Order: sequence, then C-alpha cells, then structure tokens
Amino acid sequence: MSPSRVLVLNSGSSSVKYQLLDMSDGVRLAAGLVERIGEESARLKHAHLTSGAVREWTGPIADHEAALKALAEELDKDGFGLDSPELVAIGHRVVHGGKTFTEPTVIDEVVLAEIERLIPVAPLHNPANLIGIRTAMALRPDLPQVAVFDTAFHTTMPESAARYAIDVQVADEYRVRRYGFHGTSHAYVSRATAKLLGKAPEDVNVIVLHLGNGASASAVRGGKCVDTSMGLTPLEGLVMGTRSGDIDPAVIFHLARVGGMSIDEIDTLLNKKSGLVGLCGDNDMREIRRRIDEGDAKARLAFDIYIHRLKKYIGAYCAVLGTVDAIAFTAGVGENAAPVREAAVAGLETLGLSVDGALNAVRSDQPRLISPEDARVKVAVVPTDEELEIATQTYALVRQSD
Ligand code: AMP
Repeated sequence: MSPSRVLVLNSGSSSVKYQLLDMSDGVRLAAGLVERIGEESARLKHAHLTSGAVREWTGPIADHEAALKALAEELDKDGFGLDSPELVAIGHRVVHGGKTFTEPTVIDEVVLAEIERLIPVAPLHNPANLIGIRTAMALRPDLPQVAVFDTAFHTTMPESAARYAIDVQVADEYRVRRYGFHGTSHAYVSRATAKLLGKAPEDVNVIVLHLGNGASASAVRGGKCVDTSMGLTPLEGLVMGTRSGDIDPAVIFHLARVGGMSIDEIDTLLNKKSGLVGLCGDNDMREIRRRIDEGDAKARLAFDIYIHRLKKYIGAYCAVLGTVDAIAFTAGVGENAAPVREAAVAGLETLGLSVDGALNAVRSDQPRLISPEDARVKVAVVPTDEELEIATQTYALVRQSD
C-alpha cells in the first residue's frame, strides 16, 4: 500500500496542536498538544490513539523548534517518527491567506513570503503559523508541506458581501475587506450537512453556525460560501466568548476621545474582555447555564444578548440565500448546548425553522437532525473536525501532484 499518513500542525503563539492521521482509512493514530512554549513549565500531552496510551510531560521548552522536536520524539516512541516513509506530508493550519490563497497550497519560499506579507492583517496568528512551518520544513526539508488557510473557503464571497462600504482606494491600499475565518470548519460542516441530507454539496443551501469560544456564521450556497460573519479580523459578527462581535465603529472613537483609552486598550477590551465574559464574567456556556438555573440576572442577560445576535444572523442568512435546506450547529457550544440551539430558532417557525425537544436533548458525537421529521428547513448538529479537513485537503493535494 502506498504511504498515506499526514501530520497536521496548528501552531499558535505559545502552543502547537498536532494530529497524525492515516488517510487510507481516515484513522487518527496520534494527537497531542504542547503548550506554554517559552516557559519553564511548558506542558506536552501526547496520546497514542489506537492503544489509548497517554503520556504527559512538564518542563522547559524554549521555543517552537524545541516544541516540534519534543512532539517528534513522542511520535517516534510510538513508531510514527517524522522520518517514517509512511509520512507523505505535513498540513499546516494558516489563519490568514488574504485574497491570494483560495486553495490549499504546497509551501515554498514564494508562499512563505506571501504569508509573511499578510502579517499586518493577522498580527497575532500568521507569525506563529510561520514559525511552525519554518521549523517543520527544517526538520523535513524533503517532505511536501501544505498550508490550509482559514480564510480560503470564504474567498468565493461576492464583492457585495466581501467589501465594506468605505472609500475603495483606502480599502484597497490597506487590504481592508471581509475575509472571514473558521473556513476549514465551515467547509467541513457544510459538506457533512449535505451528506446528512443525502444530497451533493452542490445541491443544498446551508447556514453553518460555528459556536465555540470564537463564533462565526456562514451562508453556503451549493457548496460555496456567499457570506460570513467575521470580517477583516475575527472580531466582527456574533457575540463570542470574549469578543464583542458587531459594534458601532464609533464606540471606538468615543472610548478614545471621551474615555481616554489607547487603541491597544480598546483592542484588548473588544477582543479579550467583551462578549460573554464582558457581559457576565464567564465565557463558558456551561457555567452561564448553571448560573441562569440559579436565577442569576447577569448571566440571563448575557445569554439573551448572545441569542438575539445569533437570531439576527440566521434571519439575515435566510434572506441572503433565499432558500435554505438546513441550518447546522457546530463547535463546543453548537454541538453541546441544547438550550442555545432551542433558543436560537425559537419563534422562527415562519422561516420553516423549529427543533424537536427530544431530538435536541440527545447527546451524541455523530452528525444528526434535531428538527421535526416534516420540517421545511432541517436543523442539524454536525460535529466539526478541522484536523480531518486539513489532512483531507493536504492528502488530496499531494496525491494530485504525485
Ligand atoms: P470550542 O472553541 O469549539 O472548543 O468551544 C469551547 C466552548 O464550548 C467553551 O467555552 C464552552 O462555552 C462550550 N462548551 C463546551 N462543552 C459544553 C457543554 N457541554 N455545554 C455547553 N457549552 C459547552
């Protein structure tokens, strides 16, 4: 059998998440996480998934190079070394691909330079992604390394959805436009939803609600994204764990002029201290629901604001799509929080939307429908799998160029 293993790397500023998958059968062989890179108490957690064995380790890890070497050693102990002939490619999650990268791309010096050129629009993410890629390339220079971009799925948005209504020259000079994020998740979930309906992706219109700590919605027509809620950065759109989502931009001028806050302070306020955490002090939906059950008014209001925004986007994307076949809930909140799903579609019967209480209450890690059998628009819960999507896209690309 030809080699078919793909290593997926997701490099953040102080962490690296990884999974090794065998793409001949889609089986996950190993997975792990290195966190607190650069600290004395960095932590590595590695799981050999076919046996269930888990190893954990705490100690100093100086940088991403040391982190990658440490995870490579762990893989090696399980017989999955980076030098294994079974390994056909490494797939890297890259957050921002701008307008340039519409597809997964084999990485070379030109691609690296372009990812670097995009740093001004992704100052937190692209530098960390680049370090991970460069380190992996140094460890295995002969192996194809593929970048899979969070923005790529959204590059099919028409200009009417992708442009902000600001001066065109200014927008173009500074690359100010709506890029969207969570693209691998929206791509995976919209396809999996079509499959759940027994249809081809080209034949269905789906609204995907990716509700995790970060949250975004997308309108997908016939397998192609036509609108999404995140914009130039992941700050726009839904209420999130710590981000405000949509806000009048003049709030920023007001806080600067009247509140005397600096741009960095406002950036931190809107990205880290807003959303659910800003409204009630908690960003975990489980804790918010527990507090609501105890009669906590702040938690109740935070939940209501979260749902109000979500409903607005569902309505908006019904209008954008014209006809909708299904709405799919995914990510930590979307997959687990039945009360969020119930509240999000409550009162939307005129749009053909409702959930069946008993089906909504079922806990499962499988894609499933939660709408009544005769529903005009199906409501689905579809667990996302960004690593599998990155591995699938990476494998397809290297197979194609064989
Ligand atoms: P993610 O970013 O997709 O990993 O989602 C993380 C978020 O999912 C957490 O902050 C929680 O708010 C939420 N979450 C995870 N498990 C549950 C659960 N069982 N019930 C409600 N919310 C959950």
